[in-house]
Amino acid sequence: MLKTRFAPSPTGYIHIGNVRSAIYPYLIAKQANGKFILRIEDTDQSRYVEGATELIENTLKWLGLDWDEGPIVGGPDAPYFQSERKAIYHAWAKKLIALDRAYADPTPSDTIQEYRDQCSSQKIPYLYRNFRPENPPEWHEGIPLRFKADPKPRTWHDEVMGDMEAGPEVQDDIILIKADGLPTYNFAHIVDDATMGITHICRGVEYLSSTPNYLAIYEALSLNVPKLISLPHILGPTGGKKLGKRDGAKSVDEYRKDGILPEAMLNYLACLGWNDGTEEEIYTKADLVAKFSINRIQTSGARFDETKLLWQNGQWIRKIVDEQGVDALYSRTTDFWPESAQTCDDAYKKQVLSIIYDRLKTLADLRTMTDYFFTDPDIDVELITKNKFLKKNSEEELSALLQDAAAQLEDSDWDEDALQTTLNQLLSQTAKKPAELFSLIRISVSYAPFSPALHQTLAVLGKNTTLARLRQTITAIENH
Ligand code: GLU
Repeated sequence: MLKTRFAPSPTGYIHIGNVRSAIYPYLIAKQANGKFILRIEDTDQSRYVEGATELIENTLKWLGLDWDEGPIVGGPDAPYFQSERKAIYHAWAKKLIALDRAYADPTPSDTIQEYRDQCSSQKIPYLYRNFRPENPPEWHEGIPLRFKADPKPRTWHDEVMGDMEAGPEVQDDIILIKADGLPTYNFAHIVDDATMGITHICRGVEYLSSTPNYLAIYEALSLNVPKLISLPHILGPTGGKKLGKRDGAKSVDEYRKDGILPEAMLNYLACLGWNDGTEEEIYTKADLVAKFSINRIQTSGARFDETKLLWQNGQWIRKIVDEQGVDALYSRTTDFWPESAQTCDDAYKKQVLSIIYDRLKTLADLRTMTDYFFTDPDIDVELITKNKFLKKNSEEELSALLQDAAAQLEDSDWDEDALQTTLNQLLSQTAKKPAELFSLIRISVSYAPFSPALHQTLAVLGKNTTLARLRQTITAIENH
């Protein structure tokens, strides 16, 4: 059976690239009716961060990437935390010792540093195998265990990068087990992938340079090498170098808190380094499972473009309303309303959402775009008098226009159609352009840089609020 895995280290920060390393193996497994495994690579105790595993689990669940085996759900190859698998690594380490392919290395670190310095002063590459201790002691916990390299030309196939080769100069006596008794990534992942029956390894291209060393370990242990799928780097917005925190790239959790929908995140990240050869930009998880193919993963780095993510999120917001109705979107907006909305009922908030959703890029836009639906805005006459459509009018003209508007609206029925008709009548009576008249009314009721269509905004605000705000503005202009 095809088995893939996502093997994150719980460092407390889930980078965009980490998640893409979960999405691709998930899609590959689901497409083949295989299994997707979650394994927590927590052997570097110095990097341990409280709560980091829960963050990983919650992020995967949020994205809909349910794992078939791993923490919480268990599975036949438990435990799925490397820190709980020490005995397994030690048993495999002993196999290598028995094969004379691993040795205990008591060399102190300052001596190792001297070897390094020696090589750099002689301008020769530092390879530990040239300093292998002559009579290593028997291995026991507390002493690092090293692999005994078998340097020779190696060739292999990477499903993305193609046919690869490497010479003996990159193969060395790498550490398998550290002095604290825990394995290095280099050793642990090989043992885990073998014991968990992983058939496809999907990981960042940064592991490519270590692959010759891994191949030597597979060979020494007579293990089959899983298919290797190296994912291209994710580059910063300028495309020059790897995406880093300094590029302003947020963690996945921050994007969630900022109101990015999981569907959009999944969609965006899946297409960061993969395409199906068409112009299509919107994919559901089911589409991705059906269409994903390893041979269309690109080899060059993929540029992270937050504007595109926001655009896709806006598309997803509309798609959810179009396909499932406004209630479906509303149920996801709980954390995103402004403070002022707290005491308002669901029905009213739903009305607001139904007229504004198609302008949202993120759900958090609700916080900044809807305040005036819930509380009277601060009046700022200059927003009117300095507005580019309105500044040519005198304050007397503006006040007179608003009085006309208030009088007409007072007699109007209060639904979208009736309001549209009243506003159109007002336009022809005053002989003003829509940009002028409607901006004046819009600003007077909202004092916001923008609002949904005017007739809809007024319909939701209600007659009393609309008229009261128009009158307050008239008074404010007169007292200006
Ligand atoms: N623990 C490694 C990381 O977080 C995983 C690499 C792999 O997928 O094998 O980068």
